[in-house]
Amino acid sequence: MTTAENISNLSDTTKDFISSPRKMLLNGQWVTSASGKMFDTLDPATGEVIVQVAEGDKEDIDRAVAAARKAFDDGPWPAMTSTARERCMHRLADLMEENADILAELEALDNGKNVAIARAVDIQVAIDFIRYMAGWPTKITGNVLPLSVPYAPDAKFLGYTLREPVGVVGQIIPWNFPVLMCSWKLGPALASGCTVVLKPAEETPLTALYMGELVCQAGFPDGVVNIIPGYGHTAGAALTVHPEVDKISFTGSTEVGKIIVKAAADTMKNVTMELGGKSPAIILPDADLEVAIPGAASAIFFNQGQVCCAGSRLFVPDNLYDEVIAGLAEAADGMKIGCGLDPENMINPLVSQIQFDRVMGYIESGRAEGAEVVAGGGRRGDKGYFVEPTILANTNRDMKVVREEIFGPVVCVQRYQDIDEVAKLANDTVYGLGASIWTRDVGNIINIVPKIRSGTVWVNCHNILDVVMPFGGYKQSGFGKDMGQQALEGYLETKSVCIMA
Ligand code: ADP
Repeated sequence: MTTAENISNLSDTTKDFISSPRKMLLNGQWVTSASGKMFDTLDPATGEVIVQVAEGDKEDIDRAVAAARKAFDDGPWPAMTSTARERCMHRLADLMEENADILAELEALDNGKNVAIARAVDIQVAIDFIRYMAGWPTKITGNVLPLSVPYAPDAKFLGYTLREPVGVVGQIIPWNFPVLMCSWKLGPALASGCTVVLKPAEETPLTALYMGELVCQAGFPDGVVNIIPGYGHTAGAALTVHPEVDKISFTGSTEVGKIIVKAAADTMKNVTMELGGKSPAIILPDADLEVAIPGAASAIFFNQGQVCCAGSRLFVPDNLYDEVIAGLAEAADGMKIGCGLDPENMINPLVSQIQFDRVMGYIESGRAEGAEVVAGGGRRGDKGYFVEPTILANTNRDMKVVREEIFGPVVCVQRYQDIDEVAKLANDTVYGLGASIWTRDVGNIINIVPKIRSGTVWVNCHNILDVVMPFGGYKQSGFGKDMGQQALEGYLETKSVCIMA
């Protein structure tokens, strides 16, 4: 298939959206970049150009931050009543729901992922999260404080706290779940009264720009949400050092996260980091393999393994090893590979040539270090970025494929003997984002869950995310939470007020 053929099957609205170059959303207006530069966004199934997009750089970031600053300092957004802010956010969620099929098509085209899964998972959770966050503005409250002030016994005091928005927020998001990340970032920022400059990943700008259209229709005041596509080292970097930006919320690799934390330190920005992972999936000796084998397969192969909490290290006890490997290989070999716009295809292309080369390089490195390739291991087709679902067996802690995040459909299987050792093996990584254990024994759950150093532990499931469940990392997987009530905390300051009578 060519990209033109892929596009010919899409809805008229989607076709229309990509029929001409896309601009950036700055202060409520769709504008070209200051430099006039554009970049191509590519179809990962073919490597061909979908459409050109305005390429933001420092000057555009400066203009967007000025607009966001004005909307925060003098504009209506933080000053608006909380019920009015809620109504705006509900309108956005309603518009996302009305346009969900378009968002899913654009996501599948730009990222490569399965369109039906995009609609059911990415887009639906994104809508639900904006709606969940839309309920918060009326419920953000401080406390009344029972002050004592022992050194002023004759005075009377009233003490209380106010929760106030952090200010102008720079949000930098990755390409693996573009709409969902957009929603994770916009939701708590808007609910708390912050204004935003959001930079989508250069690989997948289209759905964030479509979200920009919906933001305009929903009636947010100008400058509250600015969407500036562009590259990380230019537009992204400009945002992280901008003195008028109060907070950076970033989702992406640990490597880039470290650069951003250092860049943001100069102006002492509030920072939230949702970074990489090398999450363990641990099958315990009593696990129900009818559940655990397909579960472990989905833990790694969902979204082609381009998931920060993917179950990329699989721990299997000696006595179940052969059965699990055979079952997993059967599952991998049975997955239909192809373009994401056909919902039958469960393994879709990786997002880019760079990602494809990276993942293929890791598979070669695994082979060279002695891992046994029991399924996949190769490219599929001669165009697009398709990599077969791959199982590397007999891996060990010293291998590069076990230590580093691959971010592709590649699982490293490790055997273990002693159940008392397994939490230690699982924790043997610099990351701490997610983990799953597979067991029928409640004693195992009670015993092992507290020993695992990660922000989420799933039991008999993996990659389950919900709008009310905080998501974020321990260790080098980052700090701060997306989703749940805790996501708001990152966008709120606490002001103490003390009144003397
Ligand atoms: P991945 O490894 O998943 O491609 P990255 O961490 O490289 O993810 O990128 C995630 C986001 O961070 C993207 O929007 C990218 O443009 C941005 N980014 C990359 N480098 C920088 C940087 N130096 N400063 C700010 N943002 C960056």
